[in-house]
Amino acid sequence: MVRSANPRLRFAPSPNGELHLGHALSALINHQQAQQLNGTLLLRIEDIDIGRTREHFIDQIYEDLSWLGLDWPQPVLRQSARLGAYRDAARRLDEMGLLYPCFATRKDIQLAAQAKAAAANQPIARDPDGAFLYPLLHKDLPPGEIERRKSAGEPFALRLDMERAIAAARQASPSWPPSFVERDEDGQINSVAVDPSRWGDAVIVRKDVPTSYHLAVVVDDEFQNITHVTRGADLAAATGIHRLLQILLGFTPPLYHHHRLVLDQDGNKLSKSGGAQSLTALRQAGHNADDISRLIGMT
Ligand code: GLU
Repeated sequence: MVRSANPRLRFAPSPNGELHLGHALSALINHQQAQQLNGTLLLRIEDIDIGRTREHFIDQIYEDLSWLGLDWPQPVLRQSARLGAYRDAARRLDEMGLLYPCFATRKDIQLAAQAKAAAANQPIARDPDGAFLYPLLHKDLPPGEIERRKSAGEPFALRLDMERAIAAARQASPSWPPSFVERDEDGQINSVAVDPSRWGDAVIVRKDVPTSYHLAVVVDDEFQNITHVTRGADLAAATGIHRLLQILLGFTPPLYHHHRLVLDQDGNKLSKSGGAQSLTALRQAGHNADDISRLIGMT
């Protein structure tokens, strides 16, 4: 696959809350790298989470980033406008026999994960995000039951059959385990091996939207010809399943850079739900972009 020589980066916030200092760090590192590489920084709005997306958060993203001194080419890609592309990618995985329907609710999964752990006398298995590792509840539902539940209108997600996906990727890719190429702060290049199986039979198509974060992000990085993915170290484990999906879908892998995180006084990652002070609040309190750079150790 031929990729444009022009380096292309993206900052890809989810508009389900206000941006905080962690986002400022990510946006500014992306900006810095784009300048160093003489490339283009795109803004992508990752608004697939329809229940939590709010238009005013999108307006705030534009205002906060402009206040930080950033600009970006138009039009801005919104993932909510790309559902057809995600459906197509999911259909390809399905046609390869790598997806299966799962009707289980969160509660069903929790109970099954607890029962499995208790039976094995082990702690509950979790994925890198800390969610219960899917206990394969609906992996082998009889076709008749699948049809019956679908006809009854029961909502279902589509999950990746991780075992089969790995087998298919091993056939498609000459080297295993897969790796990604990490470009560190000094521009040094390292190859980092990943283990997608840590995600188990992950959701690829959610019940409420025809995609998931993992699918949408790899489809859009390919679609937008992204050459450099620069994002927080909290997403480094996700790169494992992203590499797997890229191999399966025949996508060109970008170079990755997983940057440090902004931590609070207790050493925890800042989060919208954890009440981190927002960029909008800092802006309204009279701070300027230089103050922000100082607060996140960029100057
Ligand atoms: N939308 C994701 C977030 O706000 C970032 C996705 C990415 O950079 O891959 O956490």
